[in-house]
Amino acid sequence: MSLIPEQFDEVRQQIAATCLRCNRALDSVQLIAVSKTVSVEDIRQGYDCGQRVFGESRLQEALPKMEALPGSIEWHYIGRLQSNKLRKILAQFDVIHSVDSYRMASLMDSTSKELGVYPKIFLQVNIDQEENKGGFSIDKLRVEIADIYALGRVEVQGLMCIPEDGSIEQARDSFRRLRVLKSELEVQHGVKLPFLSMGMSGDYQIAIEEGATHIRVGSSLFGKRG
Ligand SMILES: *Cc1c(COP(=O)(O)O)cnc(C)c1O
Repeated sequence: MSLIPEQFDEVRQQIAATCLRCNRALDSVQLIAVSKTVSVEDIRQGYDCGQRVFGESRLQEALPKMEALPGSIEWHYIGRLQSNKLRKILAQFDVIHSVDSYRMASLMDSTSKELGVYPKIFLQVNIDQEENKGGFSIDKLRVEIADIYALGRVEVQGLMCIPEDGSIEQARDSFRRLRVLKSELEVQHGVKLPFLSMGMSGDYQIAIEEGATHIRVGSSLFGKRG
């Protein structure tokens, strides 16, 4: 028997309880069900639980799933971006969470013009300044954000981060720093960064407490990845 419906219930209850505890409206948090490595059958179970927003991190894996599943699903791209796959990613995904350079944003902008799309994007920040992690360094983002806003086509939603592996309190600190950075950038550049994409299975409650508007949850919904 599948545990997926129960797991969706459990995560939704946790989100509701956390919102209640920190005085946030339930609809201020969007659950992105991360379905990388998950089969079409299991994704469909999530869909049957009412989930309509799913996240994938690889184009080649996502394409056949998109083909097999209802068109009413909103797909979010959460993986690393490669310029040679950008055109397909822009054509297939509704929101892209992992834009990590001005160069990439600018390429997205020009490709979007050709495709006639207005992609919603998050700027991924390497919040703990890790060697091998994707994302803008904080300094780079401060320099480049004005140029990204000057691009006509991409719609910047906000900031995204994946904290360093560590304790829950370290994760909280990383989430807090991302929130502070968002406010600083908004004031310094007179721009709006309304959303924060942060929090995964191990720490999404903490992320909600620290202001997450988009949580990306995989294994708590679909089970551990093999
Ligand atoms: C895999 C992944 C997630 C989900 O991770 P879980 O721990 O399974 O919830 C979230 N965000 C990104 C960017 C991921 O790659």
